[in-house]
Amino acid sequence: MIVILKKNTTKDQISQFSDQMKEIGLEAHTIVGEAHTIVGLVGDTSQVDIDHLRDMEIVESVQRIQEPFKKANRRFREEDTVITLENGLKIGGGHFQVIAGPCSIESEEQIVSVAKAVKAAGATLLRGGAFKPRTSPYAFQGLHSRGMRFLLQAKETTGLPIVTEIMDAAHLPLFEEVDIIQVGARNMQNFELLKHLGQVKKPILLKRGLANTLQELLMSAEYIMASGNEQVILCERGIRTFETYTRNTLDLSAIPVLKRLSHLPVIVDPSHATGDADLVRPMALAATAAGADGLIIEVHNDPAHALCDGAQSLTPDEFVTVMNMVNAIRPYAETYKRDM
Ligand code: PEP
Ligand code: MN
Repeated sequence: MIVILKKNTTKDQISQFSDQMKEIGLEAHTIVGEAHTIVGLVGDTSQVDIDHLRDMEIVESVQRIQEPFKKANRRFREEDTVITLENGLKIGGGHFQVIAGPCSIESEEQIVSVAKAVKAAGATLLRGGAFKPRTSPYAFQGLHSRGMRFLLQAKETTGLPIVTEIMDAAHLPLFEEVDIIQVGARNMQNFELLKHLGQVKKPILLKRGLANTLQELLMSAEYIMASGNEQVILCERGIRTFETYTRNTLDLSAIPVLKRLSHLPVIVDPSHATGDADLVRPMALAATAAGADGLIIEVHNDPAHALCDGAQSLTPDEFVTVMNMVNAIRPYAETYKRDM
């Protein structure tokens, strides 16, 4: 529920109002704007007497939010959320970043060499999985804590912030030096994991589930935010459809729809969306043009021998071309976003 307060409402009146709302079990989020102060009420608002609220002296108007997601809702917070990392790098609100690296960390040499290559090409974050969610229990599962050590080595060598996937909250102690924690598609609705990540003071990259709606994605973001962590980045990575030629079907319209519904940054993963290295470039360009706040792209030093997702991995040289083309269309994408 959104309560818009009258122009000259004082700070004392606002805090008194918040206390009153607390008494009836609601959390009040106050956003002081130039023209108005907006208070977002979170909790069970079904019992709230709207007429009583409207009659209050300081209240200008009251709107119920129909959508079940509140903190992630654009109506709750009009401006784009900008995520700022420890090194000052920003994502969202016009700050576009490219995350690149191998699907999985295979050795120290591999992750360090890919890190150097993607950095030289213009990537601003390094990806690499140490805990891999594989369909087969017999497939390579990742190097776990050893992989995390190699990833940290690559961060130290290149200065690139790192993004890596968590599958179990019990592994959180290993993620202390990680800059962005990824929740993979398969765990998008692992609500206990999401609640744990709500207590972490790090940005969470939340990937859309294989067969989940955008509302379900936003509800998963809401789980993290409701548990106390508002630094969520949404990621469209393709969904399962009847089409089998591509690994998944990239839902490009998810970008403008999510941006309309939510203030959270939206990035796109053209690698998992297509499963095919040849399709990564066109989809990366399309996602950039459609207003994404960034990309996450798999790059491997030797895709033919990758232990995971080689078919969709770019070589460092191919990645250079993608980066150059993405950078070339970025100014147009920004103009277009401003006009939206
Ligand atoms: C990954 O990023 O390597 C990954 C497993 O992605 P997703 O969860 O989107 O399948
Ligand atoms: Mn992968």
